[in-house]
Amino acid sequence: MKTPIYDTHCHLLYKGYITRRILYTLLDLMSDLDKLISYNKFKNEATQKQKIKISSLIKRTINVINLMMSSSSQDVLHHLEHSYGQMDLIIVPLAYDVSSCFQEAYAQDISTLTIRQERDLLNDIRNDLLFILDRYVQKLTHYKIFSQLKSLHNKLELLTNNKNTETRALNSKDVYMFQLNQLLELKQAYPGRVYPFLYVDPRRAHTLRLAKELVGKDKPFLGIKLYTPNGYSPLDQNLLELYEYCQQEQIPITAHNAYGGFSTFVKKLEIKGGFFRNGQIIEHNGWIEFETDFFTSPHKAILERAERLNHPMLWAKVLELFPQLRLNLAHFGGDGKHWQEHVIKLMIKYANVYTDLSCQTQERMLQHIKKNYLHLAPQKFLYGSDYYLNLFFIDSFQQYFANFLKVFDDTELERLTYQNAQAFLFASKKVIS
Ligand SMILES: [Zn+2]
Repeated sequence: MKTPIYDTHCHLLYKGYITRRILYTLLDLMSDLDKLISYNKFKNEATQKQKIKISSLIKRTINVINLMMSSSSQDVLHHLEHSYGQMDLIIVPLAYDVSSCFQEAYAQDISTLTIRQERDLLNDIRNDLLFILDRYVQKLTHYKIFSQLKSLHNKLELLTNNKNTETRALNSKDVYMFQLNQLLELKQAYPGRVYPFLYVDPRRAHTLRLAKELVGKDKPFLGIKLYTPNGYSPLDQNLLELYEYCQQEQIPITAHNAYGGFSTFVKKLEIKGGFFRNGQIIEHNGWIEFETDFFTSPHKAILERAERLNHPMLWAKVLELFPQLRLNLAHFGGDGKHWQEHVIKLMIKYANVYTDLSCQTQERMLQHIKKNYLHLAPQKFLYGSDYYLNLFFIDSFQQYFANFLKVFDDTELERLTYQNAQAFLFASKKVIS
């Protein structure tokens, strides 16, 4: 391609600040394996098809853990550049803070979450993973993934011991600041190539303050990243104030909006604003309780929290209040085809609403999107990778990108990877009042 490629949604997460989220996702994937085997528990040997699936999952796991073991954001960026090969690349790395997922109440100070607690959690997850994996060893002794399993054991060991990381002695607030600094160093090291977005949790005053100080045109961060299922409402009072400011300044916001992904670990949560249930928005300031416990049933829990705290109808309400908001509802619904219907309507109705196709790892889904939605708002779809979280769901990055090349023609690709990205990131439209 002649023009540069914008990857408008990626993450440069490394072991110093992210490990838990990724390990939980691994755990979730491994429980798939567990199901796969238990369906077949009366047979001695796994079928060939199962072996292939297990082998692929283990390969992906090792792949992601290798990236996770990177020593800095720059290190992860080098891997990403390598994955794109010779292409002229511009990236939008999104900051993230997994410690949001532990927060129950507004007043709670989670910056004191100690390294010891984190280590205990990591160890628990590691043990669970190994427990699940070990169950296959008996069934798969003669199969070649046996040796890969052994290397995975070692890597998990290394990761949870993680003795030499600079962030080891930091509390979670410092870890967040450390992450921001790394992204800003990268931006300086790659002028015009790296446009980081700042992660905001409206329950945390310091992130709201940083948003006003550090985000905007000619400021260190270009935009804002929100992840509401981490434990807050899109209609949070503090966010409404932030939207006002972002709309005025035309600051782009990328909000995770998949029926899936990740979510808060807590069962009881204090929210301000409103949540979604049974097809409607319920205005609410106070505690809510989820039906599903995250640790018992992570997949079901994530879907429940996505529905309550991130349903596109909640965003429709936000847009009624701020119709000129420059908003990317990321992932175009994820796997949730019913969410896509809602999101496309918002993209058609509001001039500055976009979506990105990051982490759409299935060629079939890309075909579905092209056939049913692309022509309805061709200027509003963005390309993104969600690197390296996308590598949980596909065997290689090359395959991920090849799917896009296969499904979309040259004109569509140029819009996705260049024109639309430039419009979302840099265009400044006057607010009509
Ligand atoms: Zn993402």
